[in-house]
Amino acid sequence: MQRFVIEPTLTRIVFGAGTFESVGKEAGSIGTKLLVVSTPGQILLARRIADRLGASVAGIHAQAAMHVPISVAAAGITAARDAAVDGLVAIGGGSAIGLAKAIALESGLPILAIPTTYSGSEMTSVWGLTRDGEKRTGRDERVRPVTVIYDPELTTGLSARTSAASGVNAMAHCVEGLYSETANPLTSLMAEEAIRALSAALPAIADDPSDILARSEALYGAWLSGTVLGTVGMALHHKLCHTLGGSFGLPHAETHAIVLPHALAYNREAAPDAAARVARALGAQDGPRGLFDLLGRIALPCALKDIGMPRSGLKRVVELTLANPYYNPAPLDEARLAQLLDDAWAGRAPST
Ligand code: NAD
Repeated sequence: MQRFVIEPTLTRIVFGAGTFESVGKEAGSIGTKLLVVSTPGQILLARRIADRLGASVAGIHAQAAMHVPISVAAAGITAARDAAVDGLVAIGGGSAIGLAKAIALESGLPILAIPTTYSGSEMTSVWGLTRDGEKRTGRDERVRPVTVIYDPELTTGLSARTSAASGVNAMAHCVEGLYSETANPLTSLMAEEAIRALSAALPAIADDPSDILARSEALYGAWLSGTVLGTVGMALHHKLCHTLGGSFGLPHAETHAIVLPHALAYNREAAPDAAARVARALGAQDGPRGLFDLLGRIALPCALKDIGMPRSGLKRVVELTLANPYYNPAPLDEARLAQLLDDAWAGRAPST
């Protein structure tokens, strides 16, 4: 018998090609003096948004960096304070939105987010800050964007490789969302639909990054998966990726992509309904194998050894994973974890 609790969330969503043109109107409910936040690589996009916003822009702060180092957060907080802004407009991926969240955490300023990757941070109240190589995260409603504009036209410049990695990162939120301790019928519907949409869109984007229909479908999947991420708790897969990224500096999205088929295989028997829903969404016989084959189809690496992971470090990852117990459908077992990591390291298909 099912038991669940659903909390309302209050983010306004504006979705569709060309919707960034409404940014001026949408920003009206955010503030009258705005700071546009982005990564250095997205400065042209940030200028485009600032031009649309006109006189309400007090400045562009294009200094966001992955995982929000504390010095980057401090510079952002200073920029917002010096310009005396009353709202933030974040354009870019999780790094840009992460910096806006760090500023909001300190100042309480409202955020309008315009995501251009599929990582989903715009739909969550989770913030992250990195000090001395250690990332702290927490939840705070002040950092949840008030409005999100999803415009696929702003994503056609995202490379095929980054699109693929970011898209599978979004699928990871859905796979873990399906077997989450706090899953509910609504999040499971969203997760399955997001996996379907992303797995259809990502191969088309790999073939033609300017395919606007595929970009729209991928962004739709990203919205759903961000919503799942923002609503339910994650499990083994996220724990492993956090450890691999934090202790060995592996790239965030690629690590998620490589580990995902193996994490689902690990949980297949304990969470058969989740595995079946993943398979159905992928149109595959088997969920883990379907995910593994998708990585190859969209030219993502399938082996941790190919993204800088030393084999000698796998034992340490198992130790760290066992040292901090948390929810996972299948019990954490040293030998099975070692097998999972070795398969992921070598790039073998997931164990059955
Ligand atoms: P990212 O923001 O670093 O972007 C990835 C790459 O894409 C960068 O090189 C960036 O310059 C490029 N890019 C972004 N938009 C582009 C565009 N329109 N055209 C061309 N290139 C573009 O990476 P990400 O994967 O989106 O986010 C990762 C970060 O977000 C991590 O720090 C992760 O921890 C965080 N995150 C947080 C949450 C949360 O809920 N707090 C959720 C997911 C991810």
